Amino acid sequence: MSIESFIHTHLRDSRESETLLINQLSLSLEADKTIYKVGFGQSPFPVPDHIVSAMANAAHRKEYMAVQGDNTLREAICDFHAKHESRTWQADDIIVGTGSKILIFCVMASFLQADVLLPAPGWVSYAPQAELAGHKVHWLQSSFGNHWKITGNDINNTCTFLSPDKPKILILNYPSNPTGQTYSAEELQELATALQKHNVLVIADEIYSFLTFEGVEAHLEDYYPQGVITSSGLSKWCGAGGWRLGYLHVPAQLQALKKRIVGVASETYSSAVAPVQVATAEAYRQFSSAQHFLSIQKAALQHAARLTTTRLQAVGVKVHMSDGGFYLFPDFEPFRAALKQKGINTSAEFTEVVLRETGVALLPGTAFGMAPEHLSARLAFVDFDGQAVLNGEDYSVVFDKLEAGVNSLANWLQKLSETTSAPASIHAVASYDVA
Ligand code: PLP
Repeated sequence: MSIESFIHTHLRDSRESETLLINQLSLSLEADKTIYKVGFGQSPFPVPDHIVSAMANAAHRKEYMAVQGDNTLREAICDFHAKHESRTWQADDIIVGTGSKILIFCVMASFLQADVLLPAPGWVSYAPQAELAGHKVHWLQSSFGNHWKITGNDINNTCTFLSPDKPKILILNYPSNPTGQTYSAEELQELATALQKHNVLVIADEIYSFLTFEGVEAHLEDYYPQGVITSSGLSKWCGAGGWRLGYLHVPAQLQALKKRIVGVASETYSSAVAPVQVATAEAYRQFSSAQHFLSIQKAALQHAARLTTTRLQAVGVKVHMSDGGFYLFPDFEPFRAALKQKGINTSAEFTEVVLRETGVALLPGTAFGMAPEHLSARLAFVDFDGQAVLNGEDYSVVFDKLEAGVNSLANWLQKLSETTSAPASIHAVASYDVA
């Protein structure tokens, strides 16, 4: 037997990613038609100049830094969170890594066996990471009616069926990728009571938290400090996903776990990139310019979310206005009968036909843990030029393409309900919370 066929039978299961399929299809269609790139959630904003300069000036830094992260950076992160959110983090409790994604994996890889609780819909990488670490995934299904959020009851109901002897890890992401919804302080408090009762360790993925559009950002850690690891980073608020810089705050009570996480980090990525750590320290030290940058971003993102939400709601799509970040999670169930007549029964079929017929590249709900037949999708309202926003260009010009994309989708849906004998039940979803 050849080495190739021998190893083939020993490889892990690998599912073909819907994300990749949509990407390939949109690339192949791009030559002939306008593609509205609302599938991928990359920040449209450039990294601010002074942070780029800090990186350039630190390019000579070639040493391996401490596995846990450079102390100056960890202190700058704590100061920033203290000023921005009145948090009292200590540098010793911060672990810096090459993006928060690998850090979330390091937490999971620190456990021999665990039950991992994941709200559905949820971010694409949590479940594969849990499985790579050898854990069992349990989905907690949320609903449109509950703004795609889970409750203390969901935690209680799931934990009742799980072994009390096996550790349980919940990953809770807010504002959420893919739904854009966030939790209020009261909702987090209610969740914290249930989580504490069942000794659930939580990774609070707050990577989009600085991009919460309005009000005070609430944090699960405030209600369950001993059991919550908070995860954040530079990727979203600073438009620097490719710089790969993330961090965790691990509560002092979880020292043993912190040592394991640092151990896994030392055996895998060793340390975050030295010049990036230096530049990130600068980004977190320049508090007022960061606040200014954030306020411009939030206003633009909120505008983009609003125009997308209202247009879709007007034709009968069930969709909640986003609370922050880059995403909406439209539910196309009101069009089920009309779509069925077109031979569309799953979210993957739906997003493929929508891409071919309207040029709008959405990601199917199934990529986020929804049942394949549930007609939902993620829409990232970030197909606009962030630099133009920073230059003060008129919103009507900046959001022109995004508006054209959402109009293309809305018109298609409207035509669909007019030309089939099964119109969408627009009356049932007349006016949702575009606040
Ligand atoms: N968590 C969520 C919900 C995300 O959307 C992402 C990136 O897309 C990450 C974590 C990972 O971010 P990074 O590894 O760039 O810090």
